[in-house]
Amino acid sequence: MSPPENKISPLAAPVTAVWGVGEERAKLLARLEIFTVEDLLLHKPRRYEDRRKFLPIRDLKLKEAATVRGKIIAAGVKRFKKGTRAMFECVFDDGTAHLHCRWWQAQPWMEDWFTVGREFLIFGKPDSLKPRNIDHPETELVEPGEDEFIHVNRIVPIHPLTDGLTARVMRTLVWRALEKFEAQITEPAIALDLKAYPAKANAVRMIHFPEELTDVEFARQRLALDEFVALQFQIQSRRKKFEALSKGLPCGGDNRLMKPFLTQLGFKLTAAQSNVLKEIRADMSGTHPMRRLLQGDVGSGKTAVAACSALMALESGFNVALMAPTEILAEQHFRNFTKWFEPLRVKVELQTGSRKTAGDKCHVTCDMNKPVALPVTRHPSPVTLFIGTHALFTASFELPKLGLVIIDEQHKFGVAQRETLVRKGNYPHLLVMTATPIPRTLGLTLYGDLDVSVIDEMPGGRGKIKTYVRAADKLPKVWEFIREKISAGRQAYIVYPRVEATDKDVKAVMKEFENVQRALTPFKVGLLHGRMKSTEKENVMTAFRTNEIKAVVATSLIEVGVDVANASVMLIENAEQFGLAQLHQLRGRIGRGAHESFCILISDALNEDVQSRLKILEATNDGFKIAEADLKLRGPGELLGQEQSGAMRLRFGDLTEDLNLIRQARELVARTL
Ligand code: ADP
Ligand code: MG
Repeated sequence: MSPPENKISPLAAPVTAVWGVGEERAKLLARLEIFTVEDLLLHKPRRYEDRRKFLPIRDLKLKEAATVRGKIIAAGVKRFKKGTRAMFECVFDDGTAHLHCRWWQAQPWMEDWFTVGREFLIFGKPDSLKPRNIDHPETELVEPGEDEFIHVNRIVPIHPLTDGLTARVMRTLVWRALEKFEAQITEPAIALDLKAYPAKANAVRMIHFPEELTDVEFARQRLALDEFVALQFQIQSRRKKFEALSKGLPCGGDNRLMKPFLTQLGFKLTAAQSNVLKEIRADMSGTHPMRRLLQGDVGSGKTAVAACSALMALESGFNVALMAPTEILAEQHFRNFTKWFEPLRVKVELQTGSRKTAGDKCHVTCDMNKPVALPVTRHPSPVTLFIGTHALFTASFELPKLGLVIIDEQHKFGVAQRETLVRKGNYPHLLVMTATPIPRTLGLTLYGDLDVSVIDEMPGGRGKIKTYVRAADKLPKVWEFIREKISAGRQAYIVYPRVEATDKDVKAVMKEFENVQRALTPFKVGLLHGRMKSTEKENVMTAFRTNEIKAVVATSLIEVGVDVANASVMLIENAEQFGLAQLHQLRGRIGRGAHESFCILISDALNEDVQSRLKILEATNDGFKIAEADLKLRGPGELLGQEQSGAMRLRFGDLTEDLNLIRQARELVARTL
């Protein structure tokens, strides 16, 4: 994670190098992922207590969290009735008033610990003032000696803890680690602008033992900056290495296929699409392989851009691979691209787990590690566009003379997979397309090794999408509305979170299918979910596309890419089960034609968070705003999938907030490298 210079730091010593940490404690610390001295030093406090002046017990206020300090004057177990749970109660006195504290489940150790005469710090919210009472407070024993300067008379950290490790012990260990190792905390090799931030060793001390509470954020920023610098270092040096290693294949094209393609396309590219294509062409005729992320909201027309990019490589005599996240989407691309490319005499082949169009040809092995041979013949050899799911790459298919790899809807693939591809490839151009707008912070970190192009304009002639959040008791009206729309010639998607019902509160397609058929009589309804065979799925999609089926009942399987312009209504039940970005994706299936479209989100969740989340969708169609809101609400893990966020463990940096720090780190590293 950190630049190589830091490798042999004494801070990498096991945490047992700190006085007071033996095997037992090391085990407890390991539960908190603290293994080394450095881990301990960077164990971020979860909150702080100002113990310079204590609130007199007399001044406690109802429901306001505060810390007081008092001696025990009475303590004991109370049992209400025989056989019932026992409660433990203590009374503290600080000379101004008494404070009762209760633990509803007495533990055997309590009687030995909370003994009359001992002095404690007590933190919590009073739930009554007559008598003054706090249930389940956090407490900490005050002992003379070391305590007077570590645990009281200052602002103290409260660290994340685990059973068997008290706040006091943790704080003591951190204190000792600082005493012994502070001098070894060195500045990272990439010098930071120290005028603006404290030195690293200072920052580490300040994050645990700040002089003022305002120091904490200051110190956090410095430590976060270090993390972002390390991350940027990793990203940028990987990129540099990659550029030094690899030469770009000449895939700029000559418009020989592009011209006729654009003429038959049936629409004019938007200015945004054309601009992006210019960037792509510059990359593909440049000296390094392209590594580009194409970001465009749902429906912005990424497929046409993919087609044009593919043609550039194909014109140059190279083959192209287009990878889609689902079979349905691969099939849809196959159909479109066949229609577009066959007249241009480009072969289009489909390769999914369950279906392939190319017979034996594809059984030869593909080794992306081998350099791609440049075409030597003058007369144009036949070129091929391979379309498929990830089966295209995991299985050993021959993808000879590969000039360009396009990954569609990449959020379904995962950074790790992309990485393997990038590392394996020797080195085709790579175009990654995503409809999940990537918030800027992530764009600069997790996607920092890709150049970014944005399609920031929608093709004209689209109907608006209106979104409504409703409770389930409005369903009869909703069905009536959908029947009306179908009578008027439109089609609808009906989406449920599950395939099979496992939870009575969450609806599933299998169970609801009949109900929907009944609700939409006399119209024909199809069923679509991930456990169906590909041919069945394909049949349903074909019938829907040809308007034979008026509505499909589906899982979020249809979330990506599916393009049926006549579908203008979407009903999503149990909408609270989906993430915001996912709902936005789903909604992107409608509003693709000229008709006004309607998205109805049904949810009975009373939870305010859920309601405000869904309201965001009502309020905006801007995928970028939605993605940022989603990132704030659910954190990067949810948005990107476990695998992706796990790759980067940030203790101090916050991907939802620290755009400025990320930018600084990026510039700093760019200047140094
Ligand atoms: P996405 O970016 O979500 O993948 P698509 O590529 O599926 O979007 O495009 C959505 C729809 O818009 C398709 O039906 C496509 O044919 C159409 N489209 C794309 N570009 C244009 C354009 N410049 N003008 C009009 N329609 C377009
Ligand atoms: Mg698409």
